[in-house]
Order: sequence, then C-alpha cells, then structure tokens
Amino acid sequence: MTARILDGKKAAQTLRAEAAAHAARLKEQGITPSLVVVLAGDNPASAVYVRNKATAAGEAGIAARTLRFDASLSETELLGTIHELNADDTVDAILVQLPLPAHISTQRVLEAVVPAKDVDGFHPLNAGKLLQGQRGPVPCTPAGIMDLLRLEGIDPKGMRATVIGRSDIVGKPMALLLMHAHATVTIAHSRTRDLAGVCREADLLVAALGKPGLVTADFVQPGAIVIDVGINRVDSRAEVERLFGHDEKRLTEFDRKGSVLAGDCEWASVVSVASAVTPVPGGVGPLTIARLLKNTVELAESRRLSILS
Ligand code: NDP
Repeated sequence: MTARILDGKKAAQTLRAEAAAHAARLKEQGITPSLVVVLAGDNPASAVYVRNKATAAGEAGIAARTLRFDASLSETELLGTIHELNADDTVDAILVQLPLPAHISTQRVLEAVVPAKDVDGFHPLNAGKLLQGQRGPVPCTPAGIMDLLRLEGIDPKGMRATVIGRSDIVGKPMALLLMHAHATVTIAHSRTRDLAGVCREADLLVAALGKPGLVTADFVQPGAIVIDVGINRVDSRAEVERLFGHDEKRLTEFDRKGSVLAGDCEWASVVSVASAVTPVPGGVGPLTIARLLKNTVELAESRRLSILS
C-alpha cells in the first residue's frame, strides 16, 4: 500500500480563504480584526515563524503587528506590555511567541493574557473550556489538524486514536478534541511501555513527540491514518536516507543546505503501511498558521460584537 498524502498546504489555503472571507464580513460592520505578536529574544526559528504569521495575517485582511524585544527584557517589562495590550480596545488577539528567554516565566506571561484575546488558547481558563467542550480559542496546531480531518472527509467518530505526546500545546488539546469528536483516545508519552504496540492499536495515530523518525512502520496498523506533527532538523545524510529512502529531491536539498526538515515518522516505511499520512514539511505546519488566522477573526467577532450588544 502507498498512503494517500494529506495535503496540509491545500487545506490551509481553504482555511485562509475562510478566514479572509470572515474578516471581510466583519469589515463591512466596521471591524478590522487585529493581531499583535510579541517576540522576545533572538531565536532564529521564532523569527521565521513570526514573520510567516504576520504575512499570512496581512493577506487575510487582519491588521497584524509584531512587538520585538531583545533577550534582556525583564519579566516585569513583558508583563507590562501584555497588560497594555489587554487594555487596548483595538487589539483583538495577542500571541506570545514561545520559547521565551529562560529568565521569564512562560506560565506567568501566558496567564497574563486576558482570555478573550488569548489567540493560542493557552490560558488556563481556555484550557478548561476545551476540557469541558465549551466554546473558546483552541490551540492552533490541534485545531488545524481537526480542520484537516474535516476537509479530508475523515470522521474520528468511533475510531481508536492514539496521540503520542502530552504537551499543553499539542498532545493534550489534540487528545481532548479527538475525544469530543467521539474517538476512543489513548495518550502515549515517554514513559509508555511497549509504545509501538500501543500505537499499533490505533486507527488514527498522531505523532507529536519531536523525535525524528521514531515512529516506524512497526508503530502503524495497516491502513491507519497518521498525522505527523513533528518538525525536526536532520543534519546527517545517513539519517536522511533512513527516513526518506533514496529520495533524490530530499538528498539534493540536504547536499545543498546541510540539513532537511523531517517529522516524527520514518516517512519511507510509514507511507507503505498507512492509508493516509501528512508530509513534513507541507502537512501540519501550514494548518497551524491558517488556524491562527481563524482564531484571530473569531476572537474579534466575539469580543467586539459582545461590546456592541
Ligand atoms: P514537547 O517537547 O513539549 O512534548 C513532547 C512530548 O513527546 C512529551 O509529552 C514527551 O513525553 C513525548 N515524548 C518525547 N520523547 C518521547 C519518546 N521517545 N517516546 C514517547 N513519547 C515521547 O513538544 P511539543 O508538544 O511542543 O511539540 C512536539 C513536536 O511537534 C515537536 O517536534 C515540535 O517542533 C512540533 N510542533 C509542530 C508544530 C507545527 O505547526 N507543525 C506546532 C507545535 C509543535 P513526556 O511528557 O513523558 O516527556
């Protein structure tokens, strides 16, 4: 079997168009959704993510700006900025790009964002709403994956789903969303015994562990659907060959750049067992950004219309 490729880029285009159409409808009512991204420190990957987010927001008709601070920013200063953004009525959505510099408490900063502007859904109140199945912003990566499943006509209802990873950002909210969609969910992690055996039970396997190619064909039930969330940089040619086989395009890219991106799945073997799989890159990554746009517009609508009514 060769798995169907679940095209995250194509699904993301649909979501971005939906966000843009929603933003245009709000504009007719005099509302321009606005997003502020807060970037502290000089992590090069964060700088790229932030740039991509701001560009995508602009293309969807969202007013986006980025506040950049150097790594010496104090926690008090950052909290002061968050409080100002909370109080600014023109700001609908606040995104604090992670990771923060080590001397700043991520938890204190994320909890400082007012829940009504918490575009990533990381505030404990919004996490609680998700747990209870109430409306509220949902972390962008798992929400984007649910959008992908919907657009691909995959209904998790009744499926056995396994999520590898239990972070607050991906694993836990993913498991909750699948449970709310009526899947029977297992959460696996670094202490799970017989990880491959647990994963092989799944009709739908979500790999969000951040270990390149750890998920091999041995983890995958024949015909299962596999969602690969991992984004890992691989800088060994032998490892690229293990993950992708003799994929000329990938090897050429490696020879040119000295590294390539890879997911948590061993692509070459998983693709021969699964019925459908997301690629890396071009799978979950684009969905995450597209979902951010939808979350921004939805926050703008719920906050501003509740002020008007
Ligand atoms: P974290 O490091 O916060 O969490 C990783 C999870 O995987 C933990 O729960 C950990 O278990 C588990 N884990 C680690 N190693 C193993 C192992 N050998 N076997 C089983 N479980 C293991 O990562 P995130 O959740 O933030 O991200 C996961 C991956 O997804 C990363 O590669 C990240 O880059 C990527 N990502 C991609 C996004 C996208 O847009 N595509 C967005 C966000 C993340 P334990 O809890 O026991 O330590």
